[in-house]
Amino acid sequence: MSEQPRVEIYTKDDCPYCDKAKDLFDAKGVEYETYNVTGDDDLFDEMVERADGRQTAPEVFIDDELIGGWDDTTALDETGELDKKLGLDTEAAVEHHKLIIAGSGIAGLTAAIYAARSNNDPLVLEGGEPGGQLTLTTDVENYPGFPEGLSGPDLINRMKEQAERFGTEIENGVIESVDDSKRPYRVELTNGDVYTADAFIAASGASARTLGIPGEDDLMGYGVSTCATCDGAFFRGEEMLVVGGGDAAMEEANFLTKFAEKVYLAHRREEFRAEDYWIDRIHEKVEAGEIEILKNTELTEVVGSAEEGVDYASLVRHPEGHPTDKLDDPETEEFEMDVGAVFLAIGHTPNTEYLEGTGVEMDDAGYLKTEGGKGGSQTATGVPGIFGAGDVVDFHYQQAVTAAGMGCKAALDADDYLEATEIDSEEPATEAAAGDD
Ligand code: NDP
Repeated sequence: MSEQPRVEIYTKDDCPYCDKAKDLFDAKGVEYETYNVTGDDDLFDEMVERADGRQTAPEVFIDDELIGGWDDTTALDETGELDKKLGLDTEAAVEHHKLIIAGSGIAGLTAAIYAARSNNDPLVLEGGEPGGQLTLTTDVENYPGFPEGLSGPDLINRMKEQAERFGTEIENGVIESVDDSKRPYRVELTNGDVYTADAFIAASGASARTLGIPGEDDLMGYGVSTCATCDGAFFRGEEMLVVGGGDAAMEEANFLTKFAEKVYLAHRREEFRAEDYWIDRIHEKVEAGEIEILKNTELTEVVGSAEEGVDYASLVRHPEGHPTDKLDDPETEEFEMDVGAVFLAIGHTPNTEYLEGTGVEMDDAGYLKTEGGKGGSQTATGVPGIFGAGDVVDFHYQQAVTAAGMGCKAALDADDYLEATEIDSEEPATEAAAGDD
């Protein structure tokens, strides 16, 4: 490796993405300097100037070149460019593991704990959001065994430590594709690294959809949230806005009435997508004055600061719905709402693109189809040796503890599979499957 370039990271307090950036360089064994801008106006001004006016942390520099925030850094990492800039050896190495686990959220790490204890040599590939959605959650108060609650990152770090204690290897990396045409399965990362595995657990989670509007990223965790159950209680006594028209939006709006002065539910069109059951419950709350429905309405901006939280939200309304498509229409009305928190409930996207082209079946939304039922192999997909656990499968419960349960099942299913199957590296998977019976 050539001499390492100088890596500098501007950080701030309570910044999960700053921690992720540091973890990324730690995982690469790269040294870096950090500058915490919280409470230091001069340092903050320096960061803004060096970062071409950007006011968010982290901001990463390599040899004085602006790399950018977490998204920019991971995007560069995915193409292998980051390693090149760091002078790391980028030659693809093919390393074999009995079991590869995609994803380092609750499901993946639980699977790793069980797999390592079964001597299945698990490699966890952390994915684009190391630690999964829980790392963006402030307090976890419903995970059994922690009566005082704990933070999402703390829970993840404890699981990681537990998995490593039994011999799990954890690597930073995003999977580009899985080749199931022959065994062992070939797993290629976006940075060009290649691994092979006798069995594979997809536990790569689902990412909450966001709107891509101004203020959303900067205030995520500071009044903008994609999880009412996680964050609702922090805004007790405030007016809150929920965006969405599906079951999740109804459920979240209903849940938030426990804390909110009033809940506003904004949906982009006239008809709700949610089940009648939820619509009826919401209308009961409307009659009780706890919820107000804003139909044909879309959120266009959230204004506030990390220090003070959400100040107000800007919205648009058009009588025929989808107002952001009709901004020039004179009937489109723009207005502001003085809410203290905004909850986005516009669906999740499972992170399963890398399995497209394999024999693993998915539904239209990309969720993996697994065997289910009550007997063994509940987490098996249609491809022998490939299992699914957590939010890549479960669009309904989506709780930390249910993901952990599925991760455990997947590791046990993989263990049964590995014990029962002799892996022939040249044998096509489909023929091997037929031979298994
Ligand atoms: P859905 O996909 O069902 O609903 C998403 C909602 O968000 C839709 O109303 C959609 O509007 C709206 N939306 C999507 N994109 C945007 C955007 N860019 N701007 C504004 N609005 C947008 O997701 P859910 O998370 O609600 O549900 C996912 C699954 O989980 C479903 O199968 C649901 O049944 C299930 N679930 C069940 C629960 C239950 O208690 N039974 C609770 C929670 C979820 P539009 O309708 O116009 O497309």
